[in-house]
Amino acid sequence: MMKRLICILLALALGAGLAATADETVTEIYDMDGLLAMAKAPNGRYRLMNDIDMGGVDWTPIAFSGELDGDGHGLYNLTVASAGAEIRLTRDGNMKKYETEFAGLFSTLENATVRNLRLVGADVRVENDAHCFAAILAGYVDRSEIREVSVSGRVRMNSYGVMVGVGGLAGFGCGAFDRCDAKVELVFEDRNFNSKCEEFMGGVLACGIGSVTACVVDIDGYDSCHGYVHNGGLVGMYYHCGTKYASGSVSNNIRDGRIRFFEDNKDRRAYCKAVIGESLSDPKRTKNNFDTFVRDEVKTYDTVLLPEQCDTPEYVETVVAPSGGHWGYTRHECSVCGYHWTDSYTAP
Ligand SMILES: [Zn+2]
Repeated sequence: MMKRLICILLALALGAGLAATADETVTEIYDMDGLLAMAKAPNGRYRLMNDIDMGGVDWTPIAFSGELDGDGHGLYNLTVASAGAEIRLTRDGNMKKYETEFAGLFSTLENATVRNLRLVGADVRVENDAHCFAAILAGYVDRSEIREVSVSGRVRMNSYGVMVGVGGLAGFGCGAFDRCDAKVELVFEDRNFNSKCEEFMGGVLACGIGSVTACVVDIDGYDSCHGYVHNGGLVGMYYHCGTKYASGSVSNNIRDGRIRFFEDNKDRRAYCKAVIGESLSDPKRTKNNFDTFVRDEVKTYDTVLLPEQCDTPEYVETVVAPSGGHWGYTRHECSVCGYHWTDSYTAP
């Protein structure tokens, strides 16, 4: 009887396995057209087959709910200048709802998995009238897994909205971030002087909940805010924001860098810390987070905080060729203040 039962179970398991295999078609991506096709079948499974130069195109953020395996390859020179079409509800610390738009490679990641992907030299810059979150990988993340994804580049928001934020990997939402890497310059400029904004900044996630494990973050943040600041080296504000997603472990991460900010607000809170700026939900565990993070608060509010310090900067450009498996790039350095950035990457 037992043997028979085992046989039936085995047959069922094998049958299920076969069915799953038949459905598991992986679409190979070789170029930007292949990436754009993901938007038409967002539940599919995809694999990058080589590095792809995203330069010279203003990328429209796409919605994705499938599986993307970067297979260690890079998307380089991604330029995002506007939010995607998707609107989702976000909630602030008081559970107030906002219809919000999102910018990044992806506007939204929902029930998605992204792994083994590199985004090299990305430039995400939006000027938004609406509520908006911007980040290099995705503006919005819902119940998604981000594993071994590395991002480098700059995110800048000139904001006229209220519920707003910039992140290295992701803007708003819930998910798991494991063994990710973010080397990012994040700049937020609040241009809304009529209502106090809820502003969020984080090297991994600007606002939301989930697990952040074994990530390496190097953040250079600038935040000029006339509302409420929530800034963290890893997560700006850790909160369920109305989702059912459970809190996770925020452990074994390394953070470097600083956030320079001001909070021009009589009701000043000025949340800015190395791991989590403000915790409204408790992570399951926070341990073994190492950092040299600097909280750099400025108490004057008349000058917008920017990485470039000069009124008349003078840039010297140096082109570095790719070699020995390393990416090539162009380095721009201001000979007056020393501010520098890199762009125009070339594949190894
Ligand atoms: Zn300068």
